[in-house]
Formats: sequence, structure tokens, C-alpha cells
Amino acid sequence: MRCDLCGCPIKNKEETKYRGQILCEDCYMDILSSAKICDPWATYIAKSALDQEVTITELQEEILKILTTLDGVEATILAEKLNIKLSDLHQEIATLRHMEKIRIKIKDGNRVICLW
Ligand SMILES: [Zn+2]
Repeated sequence: MRCDLCGCPIKNKEETKYRGQILCEDCYMDILSSAKICDPWATYIAKSALDQEVTITELQEEILKILTTLDGVEATILAEKLNIKLSDLHQEIATLRHMEKIRIKIKDGNRVICLW
């Protein structure tokens, strides 16, 4: 077994699992100490994990389905149609915007959600 970070061999039971990576003790300690300062490695791992996660949930699919039939809809109306809380919807919208599936535009002075 080798350390994912520095590639050095790791003795049995000395490997440390950290966010899906297998690390030697030295690297793990390095990460722990640098994490306290700014945590660029953790950010990197978190970001790559996010990039892999491109699967769309049922709810997000439902949102996209509704949006294909409407030319821009207000968040409150969309939440009503989906029968979910507005705060929950905002979370889904943020994810879908990040995936560049939907965008926000101004229609008749209102912020509406529409397909990208
Ligand atoms: Zn290492």
C-alpha cells in the first residue's frame, strides 16, 4: 500500500484514510496542520468530489421538467408546484445553477427561474 499523496510505502495499519485518500502518517499530520491555516488540499478534494457528483436528483429532474413547460417561473410558484419549502427549493436551485442547468432572469421586474 502506498500513500496517495507522497507515494511512499505504508506499513500495515499505519495508513490513514482521509476524505477518500489513503495517506501515510506524515502526510496526514501535514494536512491536519495545514488545514488549520487555510485547508487548500481539503478544498481541492471537496471540489473534485463535487465535480464527480453530476447525477441529478428526482426533485431536480422535476424542477427541470416544469421549467421546460414554462418560460420563467418565480421561485415561490415553483416551490408551490413542487410542494416543497422555499428554502429547500433555493438549495436545489443553487445546485442546478452550479451545473448550468438553470439560470435566473428578470421578467416583468420579477426574478424568475428558467432553463439555461
Ligand atoms: Zn505520504
